[in-house]
Amino acid sequence: MNVLLPRSTTDALAMLADRPDAVPVAGGTDVLVHWPSRIAEHERTYLDLSALAELRPLTWTNDALVLGALTTYWDVIGDERAGAEFPLLVRAARQVGAIQIQSRGTWAGNVINASPAADGVPVLMAYDATVVLESVAGRAEVPLDRFYTDYKKMKRRPDQLVVAIRMPRRRYDVQLFEKVGQRRAQAIAKVGLAVTRSDGKWRVVAASMAPTIRRCPAVERLLTAGTPVNESEDLESTIAHDVTPIDDVRSTAEYRRRVMARLLSHGLRGVAFA
Ligand SMILES: Cc1cc2nc3c(=O)[nH]c(=O)nc-3n(C[C@H](O)[C@H](O)[C@H](O)COP(=O)(O)OP(=O)(O)OC[C@H]3O[C@@H](n4cnc5c(N)ncnc54)[C@H](O)[C@@H]3O)c2cc1C
Repeated sequence: MNVLLPRSTTDALAMLADRPDAVPVAGGTDVLVHWPSRIAEHERTYLDLSALAELRPLTWTNDALVLGALTTYWDVIGDERAGAEFPLLVRAARQVGAIQIQSRGTWAGNVINASPAADGVPVLMAYDATVVLESVAGRAEVPLDRFYTDYKKMKRRPDQLVVAIRMPRRRYDVQLFEKVGQRRAQAIAKVGLAVTRSDGKWRVVAASMAPTIRRCPAVERLLTAGTPVNESEDLESTIAHDVTPIDDVRSTAEYRRRVMARLLSHGLRGVAFA
Protein backbone atom coordinates (compact mmCIF):
# COMPACT_ATOMS: atom_id res chain seq x y z
CA MET A 1 0.00 0.00 0.00
CA ASN A 2 1.30 3.41 -1.01
CA VAL A 3 0.08 6.51 0.85
CA LEU A 4 0.71 10.03 -0.40
CA LEU A 5 0.81 12.66 2.35
CA PRO A 6 0.23 16.16 0.94
CA ARG A 7 0.82 19.15 3.23
CA SER A 8 -1.40 21.57 1.36
CA THR A 9 -4.22 21.49 -1.19
CA THR A 10 -1.77 22.65 -3.87
CA ASP A 11 0.45 19.70 -2.95
CA ALA A 12 -2.50 17.32 -3.09
CA LEU A 13 -3.61 18.55 -6.53
CA ALA A 14 -0.05 18.18 -7.88
CA MET A 15 0.12 14.64 -6.51
CA LEU A 16 -3.23 13.77 -8.06
CA ALA A 17 -2.15 15.24 -11.42
CA ASP A 18 0.87 12.96 -11.26
CA ARG A 19 -1.10 9.92 -9.97
CA PRO A 20 -4.75 10.25 -11.07
CA ASP A 21 -5.22 6.59 -10.09
CA ALA A 22 -4.68 7.56 -6.42
CA VAL A 23 -7.74 7.22 -4.19
CA PRO A 24 -8.44 10.32 -2.05
CA VAL A 25 -9.15 9.49 1.59
CA ALA A 26 -11.00 11.96 3.83
CA GLY A 27 -12.58 10.31 6.89
CA GLY A 28 -12.01 6.86 5.41
CA THR A 29 -15.37 5.57 6.66
CA ASP A 30 -16.37 4.40 3.17
CA VAL A 31 -12.92 3.68 1.72
CA LEU A 32 -11.86 1.47 4.60
CA VAL A 33 -15.11 -0.35 5.23
CA HIS A 34 -14.28 -3.06 2.66
CA TRP A 35 -10.60 -3.17 3.59
CA PRO A 36 -10.62 -6.66 5.16
CA SER A 37 -12.31 -8.28 2.13
CA ARG A 38 -10.96 -6.39 -0.89
CA ILE A 39 -7.35 -7.45 -0.66
CA ALA A 40 -6.48 -6.20 -4.18
CA GLU A 41 -7.22 -2.66 -3.00
CA HIS A 42 -4.32 -2.89 -0.53
CA GLU A 43 -1.99 -2.51 -3.53
CA ARG A 44 -3.47 0.83 -4.58
CA THR A 45 -2.13 4.33 -3.95
CA TYR A 46 -4.05 6.51 -1.49
CA LEU A 47 -4.01 10.28 -1.13
CA ASP A 48 -4.50 11.09 2.54
CA LEU A 49 -6.28 14.45 2.81
CA SER A 50 -6.49 14.46 6.58
CA ALA A 51 -3.64 16.97 7.18
CA LEU A 52 -5.17 19.65 4.96
CA ALA A 53 -6.52 21.86 7.73
CA GLU A 54 -7.61 24.54 5.25
CA LEU A 55 -10.27 22.15 3.89
CA ARG A 56 -11.87 21.53 7.30
CA PRO A 57 -13.87 24.64 8.27
CA LEU A 58 -17.35 25.44 7.14
CA THR A 59 -17.62 29.11 6.23
CA TRP A 60 -20.42 31.63 5.87
CA THR A 61 -20.48 34.33 3.23
CA ASN A 62 -23.24 36.91 2.68
CA ASP A 63 -25.06 34.61 0.32
CA ALA A 64 -23.80 31.08 0.90
CA LEU A 65 -22.82 28.37 3.35
CA VAL A 66 -19.63 26.67 2.15
CA LEU A 67 -18.68 23.27 3.51
CA GLY A 68 -15.00 22.39 3.19
CA ALA A 69 -13.96 19.08 1.68
CA LEU A 70 -13.11 17.87 5.17
CA THR A 71 -16.13 19.33 6.98
CA THR A 72 -17.67 16.48 8.96
CA TYR A 73 -21.25 15.82 10.02
CA TRP A 74 -20.22 16.66 13.59
CA ASP A 75 -18.89 20.07 12.49
CA VAL A 76 -22.32 20.87 11.06
CA ILE A 77 -24.18 19.52 14.09
CA GLY A 78 -22.06 21.84 16.25
CA ASP A 79 -22.70 24.96 14.16
CA GLU A 80 -25.66 26.88 15.58
CA ARG A 81 -26.21 28.88 12.43
CA ALA A 82 -26.36 25.71 10.33
CA GLY A 83 -29.07 24.44 12.66
CA ALA A 84 -31.02 27.67 12.21
CA GLU A 85 -30.61 28.23 8.46
CA PHE A 86 -30.08 24.71 7.11
CA PRO A 87 -31.83 22.49 9.65
CA LEU A 88 -32.07 19.54 7.28
CA LEU A 89 -28.26 19.28 7.25
CA VAL A 90 -28.31 18.78 11.01
CA ARG A 91 -31.29 16.43 10.90
CA ALA A 92 -29.59 14.23 8.30
CA ALA A 93 -26.18 14.41 10.03
CA ARG A 94 -27.70 13.11 13.26
CA GLN A 95 -28.99 10.07 11.41
CA VAL A 96 -25.64 9.11 9.86
CA GLY A 97 -24.21 6.03 11.61
CA ALA A 98 -23.36 6.97 15.19
CA ILE A 99 -21.17 9.65 16.76
CA GLN A 100 -17.93 7.95 15.68
CA ILE A 101 -18.98 8.07 12.02
CA GLN A 102 -20.48 11.55 12.37
CA SER A 103 -17.18 12.87 13.68
CA ARG A 104 -15.01 11.30 10.92
CA GLY A 105 -17.33 11.13 7.93
CA THR A 106 -17.34 14.10 5.57
CA TRP A 107 -20.07 15.55 3.34
CA ALA A 108 -17.69 15.46 0.37
CA GLY A 109 -16.96 11.76 1.01
CA ASN A 110 -20.72 11.11 1.07
CA VAL A 111 -21.11 12.89 -2.29
CA ILE A 112 -18.25 11.04 -4.00
CA ASN A 113 -19.11 7.65 -2.53
CA ALA A 114 -22.36 8.17 -4.46
CA SER A 115 -24.47 5.64 -2.61
CA PRO A 116 -28.09 5.81 -3.78
CA ALA A 117 -28.99 5.41 -0.09
CA ALA A 118 -26.77 8.21 1.27
CA ASP A 119 -28.21 10.58 3.88
CA GLY A 120 -26.07 13.66 3.27
CA VAL A 121 -26.64 13.95 -0.47
CA PRO A 122 -30.46 14.34 -0.43
CA VAL A 123 -30.42 17.31 1.92
CA LEU A 124 -27.54 18.97 0.06
CA MET A 125 -29.49 18.52 -3.18
CA ALA A 126 -32.68 19.91 -1.64
CA TYR A 127 -30.67 23.05 -0.77
CA ASP A 128 -29.39 23.38 -4.38
CA ALA A 129 -25.79 22.57 -3.44
CA THR A 130 -22.98 23.00 -5.94
CA VAL A 131 -19.92 20.74 -5.93
CA VAL A 132 -16.69 22.71 -6.28
CA LEU A 133 -13.96 20.63 -7.95
CA GLU A 134 -10.33 21.60 -8.39
CA SER A 135 -7.36 20.23 -10.31
CA VAL A 136 -4.05 21.72 -11.42
CA ALA A 137 -5.96 22.85 -14.53
CA GLY A 138 -8.34 25.01 -12.47
CA ARG A 139 -11.76 25.04 -10.81
CA ALA A 140 -15.07 23.67 -11.99
CA GLU A 141 -18.49 23.91 -10.36
CA VAL A 142 -21.25 21.39 -10.93
CA PRO A 143 -24.75 21.64 -9.46
CA LEU A 144 -25.25 18.52 -7.35
CA ASP A 145 -28.54 17.71 -9.07
CA ARG A 146 -26.59 17.34 -12.32
CA PHE A 147 -23.49 15.70 -10.82
CA TYR A 148 -24.46 12.01 -11.06
CA THR A 149 -24.77 10.39 -14.48
CA ASP A 150 -25.50 6.79 -13.43
CA TYR A 151 -24.95 4.38 -10.55
CA LYS A 152 -21.67 5.47 -8.91
CA LYS A 153 -20.85 7.56 -12.00
CA MET A 154 -20.38 11.29 -11.75
CA LYS A 155 -18.87 14.39 -13.34
CA ARG A 156 -15.57 14.22 -11.53
CA ARG A 157 -12.34 13.55 -13.37
CA PRO A 158 -9.77 11.37 -11.54
CA ASP A 159 -7.38 14.34 -11.25
CA GLN A 160 -10.01 16.49 -9.51
CA LEU A 161 -10.61 16.88 -5.80
CA VAL A 162 -13.79 18.17 -4.25
CA VAL A 163 -12.59 21.28 -2.43
CA ALA A 164 -15.96 22.61 -1.27
CA ILE A 165 -19.72 22.24 -1.38
CA ARG A 166 -21.65 25.51 -1.59
CA MET A 167 -25.27 26.19 -0.75
CA PRO A 168 -27.11 29.47 -1.39
CA ARG A 169 -28.63 31.11 1.70
CA ARG A 170 -32.39 31.47 1.21
CA ARG A 171 -35.56 31.63 3.22
CA TYR A 172 -37.38 28.33 3.24
CA ASP A 173 -40.98 27.86 4.27
CA VAL A 174 -40.96 24.06 3.87
CA GLN A 175 -38.06 21.85 5.03
CA LEU A 176 -38.52 18.13 5.45
CA PHE A 177 -36.14 15.19 5.82
CA GLU A 178 -37.27 11.64 6.41
CA LYS A 179 -35.28 8.43 6.51
CA VAL A 180 -37.00 5.09 6.78
CA GLY A 181 -34.71 2.23 7.74
CA GLN A 182 -34.82 -1.05 9.61
CA ARG A 183 -34.29 0.88 12.86
CA ARG A 184 -33.67 4.48 13.92
CA ALA A 185 -29.87 4.37 14.20
CA GLN A 186 -27.07 2.63 12.27
CA ALA A 187 -29.38 1.79 9.40
CA ILE A 188 -29.17 2.17 5.64
CA ALA A 189 -32.17 3.99 4.20
CA LYS A 190 -34.90 1.91 2.55
CA VAL A 191 -36.42 5.23 1.52
CA GLY A 192 -35.04 8.72 2.02
CA LEU A 193 -36.78 11.98 1.24
CA ALA A 194 -35.74 15.62 1.42
CA VAL A 195 -38.13 18.42 0.48
CA THR A 196 -37.70 22.18 0.51
CA ARG A 197 -39.70 25.15 -0.76
CA SER A 198 -38.18 28.57 -1.18
CA ASP A 199 -39.87 31.46 -2.96
CA GLY A 200 -42.50 29.05 -4.32
CA LYS A 201 -39.86 26.70 -5.80
CA TRP A 202 -40.05 23.09 -4.68
CA ARG A 203 -37.21 20.62 -4.45
CA VAL A 204 -38.18 17.00 -3.86
CA VAL A 205 -35.23 14.62 -3.59
CA ALA A 206 -35.53 10.85 -3.26
CA ALA A 207 -32.93 8.42 -1.87
CA SER A 208 -32.87 4.63 -2.26
CA MET A 209 -35.42 4.98 -5.06
CA ALA A 210 -33.14 4.96 -8.14
CA PRO A 211 -29.52 4.20 -9.14
CA THR A 212 -28.57 7.67 -7.92
CA ILE A 213 -30.08 10.13 -5.50
CA ARG A 214 -32.18 12.42 -7.64
CA ARG A 215 -34.74 15.18 -7.78
CA CYS A 216 -38.32 14.28 -8.67
CA PRO A 217 -39.43 16.82 -11.30
CA ALA A 218 -42.91 15.32 -11.83
CA VAL A 219 -43.66 15.53 -8.09
CA GLU A 220 -42.19 19.05 -8.00
CA ARG A 221 -44.55 20.06 -10.85
CA LEU A 222 -47.51 18.57 -9.00
CA LEU A 223 -46.65 20.62 -5.92
CA THR A 224 -45.97 23.77 -7.93
CA ALA A 225 -49.40 23.38 -9.53
CA GLY A 226 -50.78 23.71 -6.02
CA THR A 227 -52.09 20.18 -5.71
CA PRO A 228 -52.08 19.24 -2.02
CA VAL A 229 -50.37 15.84 -2.22
CA ASN A 230 -52.59 14.18 0.38
CA GLU A 231 -55.50 14.83 -1.96
CA SER A 232 -53.71 13.58 -5.07
CA GLU A 233 -54.94 10.08 -5.74
CA ASP A 234 -52.22 9.38 -8.28
CA LEU A 235 -49.25 10.44 -6.16
CA GLU A 236 -47.69 6.99 -6.47
CA SER A 237 -47.94 7.07 -10.25
CA THR A 238 -46.43 10.57 -10.30
CA ILE A 239 -43.57 9.25 -8.18
CA ALA A 240 -43.17 6.39 -10.69
CA HIS A 241 -42.46 8.99 -13.42
CA ASP A 242 -39.45 10.19 -11.45
CA VAL A 243 -37.88 7.12 -9.87
CA THR A 244 -37.50 3.42 -10.51
CA PRO A 245 -36.93 1.67 -7.19
CA ILE A 246 -35.80 -1.95 -7.15
CA ASP A 247 -36.44 -5.01 -5.00
CA ASP A 248 -33.32 -5.73 -2.97
CA VAL A 249 -32.24 -7.15 0.39
CA ARG A 250 -33.54 -4.12 2.24
CA SER A 251 -36.96 -3.68 0.67
CA THR A 252 -39.24 -4.00 -2.35
CA ALA A 253 -39.95 -1.51 -5.10
CA GLU A 254 -43.65 -1.45 -4.27
CA TYR A 255 -42.98 -0.75 -0.56
CA ARG A 256 -40.57 2.04 -1.49
CA ARG A 257 -43.05 3.80 -3.78
CA ARG A 258 -45.84 3.51 -1.24
CA VAL A 259 -43.70 4.72 1.65
CA MET A 260 -42.40 7.68 -0.31
CA ALA A 261 -46.00 8.69 -1.12
CA ARG A 262 -46.94 8.38 2.57
CA LEU A 263 -43.90 10.36 3.70
CA LEU A 264 -44.80 13.14 1.29
CA SER A 265 -48.45 13.33 2.19
CA HIS A 266 -47.82 13.11 5.95
CA GLY A 267 -44.84 15.45 5.84
CA LEU A 268 -46.65 18.12 3.86
CA ARG A 269 -49.88 17.95 5.84
CA GLY A 270 -50.75 21.45 6.94
CA VAL A 271 -48.56 23.13 4.32
CA ALA A 272 -50.32 25.93 2.46
CA PHE A 273 -50.24 25.38 -1.30
CA ALA A 274 -50.36 28.17 -3.83
C1 LIG B 1 -20.63 2.02 10.47
C2 LIG B 1 -20.95 2.97 9.34
C3 LIG B 1 -22.19 3.60 9.33
C4 LIG B 1 -22.52 4.47 8.28
N1 LIG B 1 -23.74 5.06 8.31
C5 LIG B 1 -24.08 5.89 7.29
C6 LIG B 1 -25.38 6.51 7.29
O1 LIG B 1 -26.20 6.30 8.19
N2 LIG B 1 -25.67 7.34 6.24
C7 LIG B 1 -24.78 7.60 5.23
O2 LIG B 1 -25.09 8.36 4.31
N3 LIG B 1 -23.55 7.02 5.22
C8 LIG B 1 -23.18 6.19 6.22
N4 LIG B 1 -21.95 5.60 6.21
C9 LIG B 1 -21.04 5.86 5.07
C10 LIG B 1 -19.99 6.98 5.31
O3 LIG B 1 -19.74 7.18 6.67
C11 LIG B 1 -20.40 8.32 4.67
O4 LIG B 1 -20.67 8.15 3.29
C12 LIG B 1 -19.32 9.39 4.86
O5 LIG B 1 -19.88 10.64 4.56
C13 LIG B 1 -18.09 9.18 4.01
O6 LIG B 1 -17.18 10.23 4.30
P1 LIG B 1 -15.63 9.96 4.50
O7 LIG B 1 -14.98 11.25 4.72
O8 LIG B 1 -15.40 8.92 5.53
O9 LIG B 1 -15.28 9.39 3.04
P2 LIG B 1 -14.05 8.47 2.58
O10 LIG B 1 -14.28 7.06 2.99
O11 LIG B 1 -12.75 9.08 2.97
O12 LIG B 1 -14.23 8.62 0.99
C14 LIG B 1 -15.42 8.21 0.34
C15 LIG B 1 -15.25 8.40 -1.17
O13 LIG B 1 -15.07 9.76 -1.49
C16 LIG B 1 -13.80 9.99 -2.10
N5 LIG B 1 -13.37 11.29 -1.59
C17 LIG B 1 -13.37 11.69 -0.27
N6 LIG B 1 -13.05 12.99 -0.19
C18 LIG B 1 -12.83 13.42 -1.46
C19 LIG B 1 -12.48 14.68 -2.04
N7 LIG B 1 -12.29 15.78 -1.28
N8 LIG B 1 -12.35 14.77 -3.38
C20 LIG B 1 -12.57 13.68 -4.17
N9 LIG B 1 -12.90 12.46 -3.68
C21 LIG B 1 -13.04 12.34 -2.35
C22 LIG B 1 -12.96 8.79 -1.73
O14 LIG B 1 -11.94 8.53 -2.67
C23 LIG B 1 -14.01 7.70 -1.73
O15 LIG B 1 -14.30 7.29 -3.04
C24 LIG B 1 -21.58 4.72 7.23
C25 LIG B 1 -20.32 4.10 7.26
C26 LIG B 1 -20.01 3.22 8.29
C27 LIG B 1 -18.65 2.56 8.29
